[in-house]
Amino acid sequence: NEKPVKRSLAKSNAHFRKALTRLPLGVASNFRYWGEDKTIYVKRGKGGRIWDLDDNGYVDYRLGYGPAILGYADPRVDEAARQGMEVGGVFALGTEREYEAACRISRMVPAAELVRFSNSGTEAVMAALRLARGYTGRSGYVILEGGYHGLFDAALWTSDVDNWDPGSKTYPALIPYSQGVPEIGRQLIHQAPMNDADYLEDLFKRRSGEIAAMLMEPIQGNCCAITADPDYVRAVRRLCDQYGVVLIIDEVKSGFRVARGGIQSLMGVKADLCTFAKAMANGYQIAALAGREDIMRRFGRGVAHGGTYTAHSVALAAANKTLEILEETPALETIAGYGLRMQKGMSRILEARGIVHSFSGHPSMGGLFFAEKPPRNYRDWKTSDYSFYDAMAQHLHDQGVLCEPDSREPWFVCEAHDEGCLETTLAGFERAVDLTIDE
Ligand code: PMP
Repeated sequence: NEKPVKRSLAKSNAHFRKALTRLPLGVASNFRYWGEDKTIYVKRGKGGRIWDLDDNGYVDYRLGYGPAILGYADPRVDEAARQGMEVGGVFALGTEREYEAACRISRMVPAAELVRFSNSGTEAVMAALRLARGYTGRSGYVILEGGYHGLFDAALWTSDVDNWDPGSKTYPALIPYSQGVPEIGRQLIHQAPMNDADYLEDLFKRRSGEIAAMLMEPIQGNCCAITADPDYVRAVRRLCDQYGVVLIIDEVKSGFRVARGGIQSLMGVKADLCTFAKAMANGYQIAALAGREDIMRRFGRGVAHGGTYTAHSVALAAANKTLEILEETPALETIAGYGLRMQKGMSRILEARGIVHSFSGHPSMGGLFFAEKPPRNYRDWKTSDYSFYDAMAQHLHDQGVLCEPDSREPWFVCEAHDEGCLETTLAGFERAVDLTIDE
């Protein structure tokens, strides 16, 4: 076996030390800090690849946590964005472009009877929650263990699995995900385990008078792409109808990626409200909140919604072009096909070495596990051994293949991932697996 080649991150490391003097953790978002000598700074991206300050190239499966669905610097989308730039930006008035985008989304997503725009997934989910409360006159809400719905206080709660006994019959306690999240929020939030409809039914029976909304991702895009059973999602739909709870399906990661109509169309359910961001504009800053007409019309009848930069002409032009491509060309089939071939290639490599493994989610946003079956919920993942993945991910980076070092983040595929990318990926994967075994 050849000696492992360590890529030089000398320039990134030097920049990290400089950046630390002006930016907490040396970066603009906590998630971008990977450790003092591992934090990567990007020079540019093109297609399915990015290059760092040291000119190391990577086939990128992070895609900015999902947005670059067509690939970085896509000329079709960037040209549309340029046209959007030429007409101004924001006017604090409406434009024809937003109607065009709303019509397109309604055509693609059956649940999207009416549409509003936001600047980020966080904002869209925040607005959805407020709308559900305005509509029902209730304030409580339910989230699923392991779900992530953005950086606002009401969503920043998680399961205290570290202090939980897997042998016990209880579920882990709910804890704030961050300092600064007000403890008073606990009074409104309920946490439910994924794939347990009985638990939800019992909760609704006892508390539905207080619960405005059920907020869920059927593929947990921030938790190993853990996937809800379609039967569970349909049971959630039925229980929400029965108890008058607004079902919000958060498609910020799955939307316009796993299918034109999102995960809802794959699972045969219709949300009351659904949120989109990421893939809808190939990386330009825009999000959407869409849903049932009677609920959406509460905007304008007492529920606040707005934002200075909402429906910015550059982002909207990019969204219109991206959605046009996703609706009218086989881009999503190309993406899923690549994802499937990549997973099959990985399986061949792992099987040849007798390594038990499985995939979760969807080929366009899949999780990889070194276990016979993927986790069924956040507790399964938290209590499993993910050390092989962690070690392999580090080796993969040295081989020019960039996945998130944390196994909770799925592998995102874009239309621009081509045969060359696949070849680099599988050769790098084989080597990274062997280096991990040798350790
Ligand atoms: N919901 C989900 C499912 C997400 O994955 C994210 C971001 N990763 C958000 C909401 C928040 O989106 P943003 O980062 O654009 O605020």
